[in-house]
Amino acid sequence: VNQDGRSGYETFESDGNRSYIIAEFFPRMAVYNEIEGWQNYQFWGNGEFALPFGNYEVKINVPADHILDATGELQNRKEVFSKDMLKRYNKAKKSYDKPIMIVTQSEAEETEKSFSNNKKTWHFKAQNVRDFAFATSRKFIWDMMAVKIGNRDVMAVSLYPKEGNPLWEDYSTIAVAETLKTYSDYTFDYPYHKAISVHAKQIGMEYPMICFNFGRPNIDGSYSDDVKFGMIGVIIHEVGHNFFPMIVNNDERQWAWMDEGINTFVQYLTEQKLGKDYPEIIYPNENYPSDRGPAELITNYMSVDQNFLAPIMTNPEHVYSLGPNAYGKPATALNILRETIMGKELFDHAFKTYSKRWMFKHPTPEDFFRTMEDASAVDLDWFWRGWFYTTDYVDIGIKEVKQYYVSPGPGKEMRKIMEERGIPMNRLRPMIYFEDFENDTENLKDGNPLENSKLLNNYLNENYSEEEISNLKVPKYFYEVIFDKPGGLVMPIIVEYEYEDGTKEKIKYPVQVWRKNDNEVSKLIKSNKKIINITLDPDLETADIDTSNNSWPKKQEDSDFDKFKKRIKG
Ligand SMILES: [Zn+2]
Repeated sequence: VNQDGRSGYETFESDGNRSYIIAEFFPRMAVYNEIEGWQNYQFWGNGEFALPFGNYEVKINVPADHILDATGELQNRKEVFSKDMLKRYNKAKKSYDKPIMIVTQSEAEETEKSFSNNKKTWHFKAQNVRDFAFATSRKFIWDMMAVKIGNRDVMAVSLYPKEGNPLWEDYSTIAVAETLKTYSDYTFDYPYHKAISVHAKQIGMEYPMICFNFGRPNIDGSYSDDVKFGMIGVIIHEVGHNFFPMIVNNDERQWAWMDEGINTFVQYLTEQKLGKDYPEIIYPNENYPSDRGPAELITNYMSVDQNFLAPIMTNPEHVYSLGPNAYGKPATALNILRETIMGKELFDHAFKTYSKRWMFKHPTPEDFFRTMEDASAVDLDWFWRGWFYTTDYVDIGIKEVKQYYVSPGPGKEMRKIMEERGIPMNRLRPMIYFEDFENDTENLKDGNPLENSKLLNNYLNENYSEEEISNLKVPKYFYEVIFDKPGGLVMPIIVEYEYEDGTKEKIKYPVQVWRKNDNEVSKLIKSNKKIINITLDPDLETADIDTSNNSWPKKQEDSDFDKFKKRIKG
């Protein structure tokens, strides 16, 4: 088959050669698992594979001038490598900082000019893998470097025709190495001995130890940032699949998000790490331009018409947009859980526990949810329920801000209530009164609360020394901020208060504030400085789909017409 979907070959018109990326070429038995029984759901295109672990011994016979690599350990390196290749390979095993060429571009270009009539057999053995795949061509350039994982050496490997250069010689193996290191840090030490990235024209597809990745420069070697970052991103993603689902082996046929979403989440962490470790690769960007992970990148998807949304917990054949459903949304959910709800340290510990606990096993979604709670001792039922089982979105707003001052007696509202109920003034017990700022008829609102309330003053004098009282900070401004929640999802309320002297204060009210009232939450803020601005979710970390209700005083938003006018003008 032509290269399409998940494997195939590509013919290069200029030299008549082909590059083969071969997988799923042998029959497999349906999986019987102890939870669901037989997984006999057919392959319809989206839901990938349910596969048990096994051991493979494979001999592949190809033209003698082909280069080949595959899942598993090469058994006859001395037979299939030239003396030069062996020498370079031994050098690569000691090269931890940069790739070493095993087959150079000029050698590959020489080879692709002719066709060998001889054959060679490449012999591989693989232990404990869920599948087997290989790639072969006489066009392949081959480079490798060593990566220290724990106390073992793993080889990061790339195979690509000259058409992939200069992108591939510059970035592929570096990206493979960075992926192995970063994923191992967040999960477990990568247990296989190598990871190969093979250049393919247009697909990104994963198999154990080997994956096929797009990202091709123009014929003159030039390329856009989109092509470059797309290529590095897909390499990180597909190499990352070695961890999920090749080792933490979920049933992809039923739950695409368990590998795609979790993998896309660690892909985001790895992209950001790569940006820190190799600033020259991402220059002039300050951070790697990840297209999935940050909360604000999922709000468009989460705010589309509900008729076209399905919960993450849906079979991959039944959703409208698999990309955001099984990749973007779960990755973002985990990112929010890590950065905003649990905190990095606790999340990372729980996530590592999940990864280690389910290595070479078959977790279900519940195993993931429960392990994250079990390892962190945090009740996350509300989070799984909202983000994974519903199509609700986050929208929290500032409904109202009321200001109060301390008043000696009951104010207008209180007096009205007493009148209505016929309660005489002398029935009131001594109290400290807050009166609405707007109702100040006696010019008390700018006064000192201690002077406004004799009761408060007496209380302090009776209970504290003069020195203690003079050290007290007496708040002058009292606010009640009422938050509402047009969206269905609950989230911590993250608020930035800006005072008139320009200082800012960020307060995070935990998600539990919504427990007893799902509609509204009100908070009393006291301060000796006047609040001039209140901003909800100032760093856009909660995936709030509508930010027009996130500030007080309400910001004047341009109408769509104004925005349009500005756009065509500028
Ligand atoms: Zn994937």
